[in-house]
Amino acid sequence: MKISVIGTGYLGATHAACLASYGHDVVALDVDESRVRTLAAGHVPFHEPGLDELVVDGLRTGRLRPTSDPAAIGDAEIHFLCVGTPQVPGGRGADLTALDGAAATVARAARQPCLVVGRSTVPVGTADALAARMETEAAVPVSLAWNPEFLREGRAVEDSLRPDRLVLGVADDAAYVTLSAVYAPVVAAGVQVIRTDRRTAELAKTSANVMLASRISVVNVLSEMCERAGADIGDLVRVLGSDPRIGPDVLQPGLGFGGSCLPKDTRAFVAQGRELGVESVALIHEVDMVNMRQRARAIDAVRRAWGSRRRVAVLGAAFKQGSDDVRDSPALDVARTLHHLGATVMVHDPLAAEAARRAAPELGYADDVESAVRDADVVAVLTPWEEYTGLDPVSLYDLAASPSVVDARGCLDADKWTAAGWRFHGLGRSSCA
Ligand code: NAD
Repeated sequence: MKISVIGTGYLGATHAACLASYGHDVVALDVDESRVRTLAAGHVPFHEPGLDELVVDGLRTGRLRPTSDPAAIGDAEIHFLCVGTPQVPGGRGADLTALDGAAATVARAARQPCLVVGRSTVPVGTADALAARMETEAAVPVSLAWNPEFLREGRAVEDSLRPDRLVLGVADDAAYVTLSAVYAPVVAAGVQVIRTDRRTAELAKTSANVMLASRISVVNVLSEMCERAGADIGDLVRVLGSDPRIGPDVLQPGLGFGGSCLPKDTRAFVAQGRELGVESVALIHEVDMVNMRQRARAIDAVRRAWGSRRRVAVLGAAFKQGSDDVRDSPALDVARTLHHLGATVMVHDPLAAEAARRAAPELGYADDVESAVRDADVVAVLTPWEEYTGLDPVSLYDLAASPSVVDARGCLDADKWTAAGWRFHGLGRSSCA
């Protein structure tokens, strides 16, 4: 099938490369020419395991063609919209400027009847509005469907090739049949396909993110209860996770959620809920507030430990382990706030240091953990990279000016660090109260 993918970020580049691997003929369009050049040269401009290989393979077979020329998408039978939908500047809703631009590009370029499929995360009702607009703007018949993406950064290829479910939000049988054919290899592998209407498909994605965000904030409320009450959040989480109705996933207390999806999707959900008069959406607003308070609590823990010199080693800048993305990273946010509070901050991250340096050039950066920790008054672990879990507190003890560590992610072995002479402050543990 001839397919275009509009937008080649985390979602679009992964989607385009996966579609090419299914044997489709894919044109990947982006307005960012340097991104297109990078992809066309066989490189992925961000860290995503397995994606370089898929892109190289797609270029070699000629099934994947990155371009910045809108005319190149004219012959496609299906256009996937994969552009960003960030938080609106100065507000809390979703900014649909890029999506409107992508839809206008398709309307102008399409030379044959086509199916336009939204994959971006959007407020409910976006597809209906786009469909109405495209009906008047496009010179050819256009039908519109919504097919939200649930991939996780750091596992994008795996999640795309073997998703938990495919959600096809369609307005007619023809769109359903076409999308089932696009995803034939995934469907043949037995992946659950959920057919629904466009509005439910749009809402399914934001609802999934709201559920995940809520779970994280509830665990963080429990962790604060533990701090105040002198109880142990680690044992508490084990008890909860062993209840099959609750389950063990996404039950990690700590610095809370960040990245380019959960915070902005939670806020956009609340903004739209208020517009629609859903009073109980106040609960989800509080999920966001609890999440932001975790950053303040981590900052307080560091300030209690930093003494008069205020030299802080920050371990971790990425919004989560396994990613080089620092968009709305809680770790980088905390590091910047500490800097604004007068600290000398030295950051280490095994993968995201370059992205962090571009986003926060005012901070210091170290190539290895030892250099970051040398002469520090407090070490703050803000992203739970595996290599931090395995750190040797005995050898680091002599490097630090003062042996204080704040574990904001619950990823260190408190007993091991305490036995090596460190004052250990774990977010959500009674020592932080
Ligand atoms: P991104 O910012 O990494 O990429 C968006 C790309 O779209 C950029 O390369 C930009 O240049 C391009 N673009 C913008 N306007 C364009 C236009 N008019 N024509 C062509 N290209 C255009 O964004 P992302 O992280 O890939 O997210 C995209 C969407 O997918 C968002 O709605 C996001 O919420 C959703 N999503 C993201 C993830 C994730 O993990 N990143 C997961 C699921 C869903």
